[in-house]
Amino acid sequence: MHGKPRHVSLGINMKRSLVLLFLLVSFLFSCSSPSHYNGYIPSSVPSHFNHQNEYSTKVVQKTLWIPSSPRTVVHEVAPLETLWRISKMYGVPVWKIRRANHLKGDIIRIGQKLIIPGAKYFKNVIPLYPSTKWRYIILHHTGTEIGKATVIHRYHEDRGFIYGLGYHFLIDNGTLGKGDGQIEVSPRWIKQHDGAHCKAGGMNHKGIGVALVGNFNKERPTPAQIDSLILLVKILTEFYNIPPDHVLGHRDVPGARTDCPGRFFPWRRVRLALMK
Ligand SMILES: [Zn+2]
Repeated sequence: MHGKPRHVSLGINMKRSLVLLFLLVSFLFSCSSPSHYNGYIPSSVPSHFNHQNEYSTKVVQKTLWIPSSPRTVVHEVAPLETLWRISKMYGVPVWKIRRANHLKGDIIRIGQKLIIPGAKYFKNVIPLYPSTKWRYIILHHTGTEIGKATVIHRYHEDRGFIYGLGYHFLIDNGTLGKGDGQIEVSPRWIKQHDGAHCKAGGMNHKGIGVALVGNFNKERPTPAQIDSLILLVKILTEFYNIPPDHVLGHRDVPGARTDCPGRFFPWRRVRLALMK
């Protein structure tokens, strides 16, 4: 009497096992994609940072440079960067970075200089969080000839911005030790906070603030900055379904009294690239 039900239940268990195996294999393959992956949870999440969102969503990676052979570089820790993200940027495992810097845990601080042994490349690593909040992209220049996130973060903190760096992304111009075209991800983006970059039109609440280091009333952005800007804006418009006419310069927002991002900002080039 028990024979038949047991046989049936065994069959169901086997099917379940096969389904689980299939799911596991699919998950492993989805993680091995070189360009992006979903739902990857690293073992080294520093709990005190409380920004687990970074690990539960899509991450886009794009190579900025590749040296002829792996080389040791020094990386200065930007606001809210983690060992996990730095490891992705250079293709070096977290444990190697820890060992090279005599770190016992995952705690690193803003401005800390880390030795990255055997960096294979530098990648811009851009996390994308599911949200319906972002309807615009507002482009800025920093108005300074040099810059990087740590410096502007402190400057904005001094100006009373509660979360420091007012933009969501900063595209470096190769000054102060940062890469030309390097995309720095602001803590505001990681925490999905409002920006502090454009009060007019309520853009701080609904606009993603992207700034390029430079004063584009005096000079043009570098070609690498423009490439990174086009890449970033394309990724963001696609992911958040933002129409091209919602990509605006700061000065084009009604009510904004500024000439930002400067008269040499290459709008034609950017608009053409976004239409493709
Ligand atoms: Zn601006």
